[in-house]
Amino acid sequence: MSVTHGTERTAGPVAGPVPPEETEATGRSGPDPDAMAAVAAAARAALPPDGIIDDHVRLRTYECDGLAHYKVTPALVVLPQTVEQVAAVVRACAEHGVPFVARGSGTGLSGGALPRADGVLIVTARMRSIREVRPEDQRAIVEPGVINLDISRAAMPAGYYFAPDPSSQQVCSIGGNLAENSGGAHCLKYGFTTNHVLGAEFVTPQGEVLQLGGLAPDAPGYDLLGAVVGSEGTLGIATAVTVRLVRLPEDVRTLLAGFHSTDDAGAATSAIIGAGIVPAAIEMMDALAIEAAEAATHCDYPGGAGAVLIVEVDGPRVEVEHELAEAERLCREHGAFEMRVATEPADRALIWKGRKSAFAAVGRISPDYIVQDGVIPRTALPEVLRAIADLSQSSGVRVANVFHAGDGNLHPLVLFDDAVEGAGEAAEKVSGAILDLCIDHGGSITGEHGVGIDKAAYMPRMFSDADLDTMQLVRCAFDPDGVANPGKVFPTPRLCGEVPGKRTGAHPLVEAGLAESF
Ligand SMILES: Cc1cc2nc3c(=O)[nH]c(=O)nc-3n(C[C@H](O)[C@H](O)[C@H](O)COP(=O)(O)OP(=O)(O)OC[C@H]3O[C@@H](n4cnc5c(N)ncnc54)[C@H](O)[C@@H]3O)c2cc1C
Repeated sequence: MSVTHGTERTAGPVAGPVPPEETEATGRSGPDPDAMAAVAAAARAALPPDGIIDDHVRLRTYECDGLAHYKVTPALVVLPQTVEQVAAVVRACAEHGVPFVARGSGTGLSGGALPRADGVLIVTARMRSIREVRPEDQRAIVEPGVINLDISRAAMPAGYYFAPDPSSQQVCSIGGNLAENSGGAHCLKYGFTTNHVLGAEFVTPQGEVLQLGGLAPDAPGYDLLGAVVGSEGTLGIATAVTVRLVRLPEDVRTLLAGFHSTDDAGAATSAIIGAGIVPAAIEMMDALAIEAAEAATHCDYPGGAGAVLIVEVDGPRVEVEHELAEAERLCREHGAFEMRVATEPADRALIWKGRKSAFAAVGRISPDYIVQDGVIPRTALPEVLRAIADLSQSSGVRVANVFHAGDGNLHPLVLFDDAVEGAGEAAEKVSGAILDLCIDHGGSITGEHGVGIDKAAYMPRMFSDADLDTMQLVRCAFDPDGVANPGKVFPTPRLCGEVPGKRTGAHPLVEAGLAESF
């Protein structure tokens, strides 16, 4: 089974039929031997021998992230344990013009941690110390390789947890979360990673160590931490992260509601939010996603449902009881034919098991699939879901929908069998058309999985030349030599010497045939 997230071949003229692993974006021409030898020597001087990987077989372990469709073998992998070791390797890269890519757990779905064939992969998996848990400040300071869920595990004895909860939270790292500004089911009420990161120790692409933000609630001057969160490893490497801890709620209840259609479930979602209730989470799965989840986890969702909603409310008991009653009433009013409320942790876990394993479960009903990630205004849910169903019907490509309905963050899973000639291309076409739908409805090309290499070609669809130029100025301010994760986020790494400003001619990306203006 292969899981892809690829869309770059879907949009005809946007990127053309060149797989990214064959483009300059991944340094396909290979390393400059002298420069790489110098960087490897500097890395050996700074790190213990088992922190360096340079034999081809072991290097291949790191050839892709969660976007397994694309593979590039890095020239060198380093596994630092300290900020000084990270800084030493980065300094050597800067000095010799060698690109580097940061990697946490490698679960990213947009190819952000895809290595460079001419560069160094800096893996933070050995930086897993939780330096401090400070319940009195509602803060924790952790190293970048710390697994998301381990922060909550460390804080729970004091009555706190870390709120952002990507479905991958058992394996993904806080460094990756910061770089992707990751979301999760409970970000509807609590906000994304950016709302929970208060500071970072940060190695710049020149190898300098900065302290951005910190324990205090606000820092004077430019919000450099804000620029770094969501920058997908293009501005440097976080070597420690100060996060906000949230008090564990007094009560949590989970409502599972079965509807005949996604239209009804979408309308119920809008009605709940419109009534002034902000549940901790509102998740939706359609019939195909339910079928897959049932096959994999026996989660016992309402039989015959065209869609289910999982609505979780948390907080003080009195508030929870009131909000739950309102959510039940609104679901019933919008056609819910079966509802179940779980209060015990084991019952709640069973409801969530179906949802949280949905991506993997789809493997039960299709050998291959593309995980798409787009955002639309919540009120457009019924219309866009109908349009996706139409697309699926007219193309004959099955699409399962499982997503953060409260945030309007869609995750259509486009199913195909790569053994069937042309099936992959047909799936990619549908996947790209779904992104177009999101943009056309005032949404965005990614809700939480990032741009990476996967959606770089789509950036000009959302942003004007002036927007992209300004982003490049920020990138160049941090990384004038373009060594930090080049080839990601933007269609090509534009040179810092190129002066942004009002253009009289076509954008260079358009001229190069790498992007299209709309
Ligand atoms: C089954 C599954 C479910 C998922 N569910 C969700 C979900 O619900 N919500 C969601 O948002 N995402 C989800 N993801 C995507 C992924 O888990 C997140 O993007 C996660 O934050 C990536 O963390 P990572 O440690 O694996 O990062 P990696 O994949 O290793 O890296 C991701 C990006 O971060 C950069 N990076 C990594 N560490 C650092 C660092 N220390 N400093 C600077 N840059 C760094 C890399 O260069 C790369 O650009 C899911 C993935 C899978 C496989």
